[in-house]
Amino acid sequence: MSSAYIRPRSLAEALDAKAQHPDWMVLAGGTDLMVNATHRPEPAGILDLWRLPELRGVTMTDVLTIGAGTTWLEVEHHAAVLERFGPLAAAAREIGALQIQARGTLGGNVGTSSPVGDSLPVLLAFDAELELASAARGRRRIPYREFCTGYRKTQLAADELIVAAHLRPPATRTRTTWRKVGTRRAQSISKVMGAAFIELDGDVVTRARVALGAVADRPIRIAAVEQAVTGLALGAKAAEAARAALRSAIKPIDDVRSTATYRRDVAENLVARFFS
Ligand SMILES: Cc1cc2nc3c(=O)[nH]c(=O)nc-3n(C[C@H](O)[C@H](O)[C@H](O)COP(=O)(O)OP(=O)(O)OC[C@H]3O[C@@H](n4cnc5c(N)ncnc54)[C@H](O)[C@@H]3O)c2cc1C
Repeated sequence: MSSAYIRPRSLAEALDAKAQHPDWMVLAGGTDLMVNATHRPEPAGILDLWRLPELRGVTMTDVLTIGAGTTWLEVEHHAAVLERFGPLAAAAREIGALQIQARGTLGGNVGTSSPVGDSLPVLLAFDAELELASAARGRRRIPYREFCTGYRKTQLAADELIVAAHLRPPATRTRTTWRKVGTRRAQSISKVMGAAFIELDGDVVTRARVALGAVADRPIRIAAVEQAVTGLALGAKAAEAARAALRSAIKPIDDVRSTATYRRDVAENLVARFFS
């Protein structure tokens, strides 16, 4: 038996197909889906979104909008991303190798919602909004922090597609960072990675958003660290406060990629570095 296959020419067509076939596999770049394709039951059908024009591209107005079907290669080379969204460019550059970046999309990283999805802490740190759409209810926006509800579980309804992510640019006195630690320097799945968005008055932290991946069942904001550093000047004291607050705020797991102890140590070093 071979699956049915639809490659819609517009978003409206794609949403109609999703409403009619909510159980079909939605395929963007396929870099997540194809990994275990031969071990999974064949889907009833495939809805192929690759290169769907309305899902592609990056635009910068007062916010940055990235279509769900935009590849990481397109993200990492976009002038506005390079200029004002450094952590997103950095994450995009470290998602697999060039071949994966040329095929893998933002919508796919968000759709899989793996705890090791490299762009996801960036979306949390920038407090990004996702735009979702369905044929029946039209478009809705949801903060990314509410989207992922558990291990690879999301709020996406069966008839919905991810359309775009929206990120507000940082103000001038904002330090933004992204850092990934894997088995080796390049082409590795993260053991721990994280992003920070730190608003400053002079050197003093007025507000911080800190997010980590691979330390829980989903990418998470670390509220304890955010509170501990607010009001402190960047430097050794803030770094130590961040490290101490993180210690009791995460419960990393042991798995094939790393041990809980190593993940905890690395996560502490990462957040300390964000504020030093
Ligand atoms: C060798 C290799 C290395 C990798 N390295 C990394 C890495 O270092 N870091 C990292 O984060 N990831 C990595 N990945 C995973 C993967 O490349 C990324 O998660 C990528 O962003 C997935 O995008 P895609 O378009 O290929 O998704 P797909 O495989 O097409 O889809 C993934 C999921 O998202 C859903 N989806 C996709 N688009 C939409 C949409 N518009 N609306 C609704 N649902 C949608 C699909 O239904 C599916 O469930 C790697 C994968 C491979 C094979």
